Amino acid sequence: MDHFLYRDGALFAEDVPISEIAAAVGTPFYVYSTATLLRHFKLFDDALDGMDHLVCYAMKAASNQAILKTLAQAGAGMDVVSGGEYLRAKAAGVPGDKIVFSGVGKTADEIRIALTGGIRQFNVESEPEMEVINAIAMELGVIAPITVRVNPDVDAKTHAKIATGKSENKFGIPIARAFEVYAHAATLPGLEVIGIDVHIGSQLTELAPFELAYTKVAELTEQLRAEGHNIRRLDLGGGLGIPYTRANDAPPLPVEYGALIQKTLGHLGCEIEIEPGRLIAGNAGLMVSKVIYVKSGEGRDFLILDGAMNDLIRPAMYEAHHDIVAVNEPAPGVEQQPYDIVGPVCETGDTFAKQRNMPPLAAGDLVAFRSAGAYGAVMSSEYNTRPLIPEVLVHGDQFAVIRERPSFDEIINRDTIPEWL
Ligand SMILES: *Cc1c(COP(=O)(O)O)cnc(C)c1O
Repeated sequence: MDHFLYRDGALFAEDVPISEIAAAVGTPFYVYSTATLLRHFKLFDDALDGMDHLVCYAMKAASNQAILKTLAQAGAGMDVVSGGEYLRAKAAGVPGDKIVFSGVGKTADEIRIALTGGIRQFNVESEPEMEVINAIAMELGVIAPITVRVNPDVDAKTHAKIATGKSENKFGIPIARAFEVYAHAATLPGLEVIGIDVHIGSQLTELAPFELAYTKVAELTEQLRAEGHNIRRLDLGGGLGIPYTRANDAPPLPVEYGALIQKTLGHLGCEIEIEPGRLIAGNAGLMVSKVIYVKSGEGRDFLILDGAMNDLIRPAMYEAHHDIVAVNEPAPGVEQQPYDIVGPVCETGDTFAKQRNMPPLAAGDLVAFRSAGAYGAVMSSEYNTRPLIPEVLVHGDQFAVIRERPSFDEIINRDTIPEWL
């Protein structure tokens, strides 16, 4: 459920008509619903009720500070994957002891930033990285809390570009080597080993891969404890999928996911962390775009939008499906017709949907891409010197621009011309 519904024939974000935002900020733009963000966060928080836990929002999904602040005020921690994300979370008011640092290639500079500003834990992904964290912690005279990210070699049964838990993926250390790596970590004076981390992929639509992975984590916890390691925190990653089509997708619910965590790991008495990103932000955001032209081709009609692959890259990159709806609700019984829905960028890949049934649309009409809140704005670029599109946050009957559209001058003036030219 989300808060983007039709009222009297017009699409609303909570209590604000989409057309009113379009008139104020121009198209294309992203719009997020506060109520939906909070609802999704609470679903996870409630699903882990009864266990000591922290829901750390994976902010790479949608990292605007207004979104971070909304979630942090509700009690969320943050999962960051770069020094920039760490600083952005801090800027949004998230305390260091609620920030976990994930990512396969943390640089010395990034590690120093986090150790200086305070960190809940590093999720370590390799032995060389462990050595660097240890060295910097010793140099700064602090102890770095760490978990080791293990790769459980399970098939997440998701798109290949977002599967991370198979042995051929670059992430984590093979679970079979965990003993050696934990034994080594225990000898490093700048580190305190506090737990285990696992994250097997994104957009998982079944619980079975989680169950396999978490069962392995449970065994490993007991084995590592038997070796004398004080394993007291389990970071279980993110990855729970969302419905991208209203019609037929039914991924597991957070409450079912929570019950699985309880069943596989509850007996260990560990503090549980989860790192959901997509499920919190995905269906809390739309991308709204305008039809520039309707063009009749050979046997097909094209809807040419002012939004493009640089604004929302998921269809081009992951062959992802987004439901696309008319902002003016089609009259009941109106006959739909197939369109190829494309952006203006000079790439054939700049195609959002082929032969998609839509109500008849004309130049100037607004359309909304549903499920665009996660991995949307954050993956956008200025390809074709198209300005990054604005982000808007709705809260009840209020809305605010939370990132402005840059002017062409701002974009162009970012280049500097060397003296010899
Ligand atoms: C991307 C990522 C997440 C979030 O994944 P979602 O599918 O958006 O929930 C969580 N943890 C890590 C380590 C990640 O890389």
